[in-house]
Amino acid sequence: MVEKLQKIWLDGEMVDWDAANVHVLTHSLHYGLGAFEGIRAYQRADGKTYVFRLREHVDRLFDSCKMILLVPKFDKAQVMSACVDLLRVNGMTDGYLRPMVFVGEGAMGIYAPQNPVRTTVIAWKWGAYLGEEALKHGIRAKISSFARHHINISLAKAKMMGQYTNSVLAKREAKLGGYDEAILLDANGFVSEGSGENLFIVKKGVLHTPDLSSSILEGITRDTVITLAREQGLEVREGRITRDQLWLADEAFLTGTAAEITPVREVDDRAIGTGTVGPVTKRLQDAFFDVVRGSDTSHAAWLTPV
Ligand code: PMP
Repeated sequence: MVEKLQKIWLDGEMVDWDAANVHVLTHSLHYGLGAFEGIRAYQRADGKTYVFRLREHVDRLFDSCKMILLVPKFDKAQVMSACVDLLRVNGMTDGYLRPMVFVGEGAMGIYAPQNPVRTTVIAWKWGAYLGEEALKHGIRAKISSFARHHINISLAKAKMMGQYTNSVLAKREAKLGGYDEAILLDANGFVSEGSGENLFIVKKGVLHTPDLSSSILEGITRDTVITLAREQGLEVREGRITRDQLWLADEAFLTGTAAEITPVREVDDRAIGTGTVGPVTKRLQDAFFDVVRGSDTSHAAWLTPV
């Protein structure tokens, strides 16, 4: 259960948590058109709180809106301020932010172009998405029977509400089967991503991840990891990965704002490498956590103070 906080930002106002409700005629509830983001804020070693890569998340929110032809009533600067203000009014030193642009009530039917475009930002406390144990020791994943959206069926680069039924179905299938997470192949059978994470493998010291012209979401953590890996002198190759390449990887891990860097120790009941957290994954995890909540200030542009 999400722990109730004091305020939610809704259409420009700080509203009491219990009063931030929408009508059942809300268009997005019926048809799923809407865009959202997931952002983390961390308390760093200096004791202060920073939002991680706020600008990039808000840029992606507006890109998602552009793709689905929604024009938010607030500009990027206002949404960024809302995120920072919300953490302040709720007295949060770290947590998760969920900006969302959605279609309100008015007309029904699919078209409904006059319905109001609404914007909200919600904050809540969120620990390790897949659990502390997962971060330390890795997870067991299963290739899903659900494929990631084909690029001409949905909008792979949009973080769009309705698309997530696919992720929920894949996740539920994996959990019901006794696994921690689903890995989806794309419509051509190549490895795509997790239900809410991008995927990397390590083979012979080289990092591989699906390229951006495939059906993956362009993850901001993915970009962070690629940047940090290259700074460490690691070679990163973006391209197709097959299921058997994944099974035969030396190491594998998932990346996402919620999941951070979560090692994958097993896929389809086959151990990945030694079945423990590999040295490259560990090094990248350490570098990542040092940047987001430690004392590494070499990427100050990624940190927005609260
Ligand atoms: N893929 C999907 C489907 C996701 O939902 C997410 C989480 N936003 C990601 C990848 C990772 O993206 P990011 O690192 O920007 O959180």
